[in-house]
Amino acid sequence: MQVTLANPRGFCAGVNMAIDCLDEAIRLFGSAIYVYHEIVHNRHVVERFTAQGVTFVDRVEDVPEESILLFSAHGISPEIRRTATERRLQTIDATCPLVTKVHMEALRFARDGFHIVLIGHEGHDEVVGTMGEAPESITLVETPEDVDSLPFGLDEKIAFLTQTTLSVSEAETIITRLKQRYPGIVSPPKEDICYATTNRQEAVHRLAEDADVVIVLGSQNSSNSLRLAELGGEQTGRAYLVDSVNELPEGWDADVQRVVVTAGASAPEDVVEDCLEHLKAAYGATVEEVTVSEEHVRFPLPKELRVLESQDNR
Ligand code: SF4
Repeated sequence: MQVTLANPRGFCAGVNMAIDCLDEAIRLFGSAIYVYHEIVHNRHVVERFTAQGVTFVDRVEDVPEESILLFSAHGISPEIRRTATERRLQTIDATCPLVTKVHMEALRFARDGFHIVLIGHEGHDEVVGTMGEAPESITLVETPEDVDSLPFGLDEKIAFLTQTTLSVSEAETIITRLKQRYPGIVSPPKEDICYATTNRQEAVHRLAEDADVVIVLGSQNSSNSLRLAELGGEQTGRAYLVDSVNELPEGWDADVQRVVVTAGASAPEDVVEDCLEHLKAAYGATVEEVTVSEEHVRFPLPKELRVLESQDNR
């Protein structure tokens, strides 16, 4: 068995920052901390913090007043921020800056009188947060067919934005349809699908060409991991999205000689290492890592945490 290990894979800058943020908050305040939604969409990461005593909640109302509440990497709507203020919570915002960028674009387009078409997946934390910035002005589309039923006229001001973790090729298909229907539609000032999503998809696209199967380490609720598995499936006919190598279904290895291994942006590297060790031990696999693009993106911890850190260091 020959394994091609995709690079880049795994943690992106936003996920690294959110995890560092929660680690640092625990160091400063102890683990009696609440997090709104999963800090990142990965079972291993959430289980590690839960074991340390962190509580994950889906409703701000479930957080005791005056507690510490951390907002996850996917961002929140202003409504959630207001509720947290009403409950006198001390909040730390670990939203990825690239998600915040989309929020700012939504606010600006809404302020300038645009109808905003948001390309994304209904119910995803990031989409809920972005739509909450200007609910009256944003319409969600998930498919090219959704574009056909948009109610806007050609004389109206329309702009589009996208979720950061979409399939690049699917988003392009929807954007093409939007531009056909609304030739004057305004694009976001800068690409919304983030560098990490794009690079991980590009790596699978390049490396899976001759592979028999693609293994994506990641959780089922991770949007960018799901997109990698879809892409791998399109290219090889067989792709598996699993939290760990133990979850590969029986018979996954039938007629398999060339395997591509990658990981979603929220999947830790140790699950990749476990997977490689298993493939070496069980199949005598040789592993070659192939770098398709280099990443050097880093995000600083949120300001409120840096302030608390500097007070702690005095
Ligand atoms: S996938 Fe992209 S947008 Fe999401 S946290 Fe990572 S860098 Fe930020």
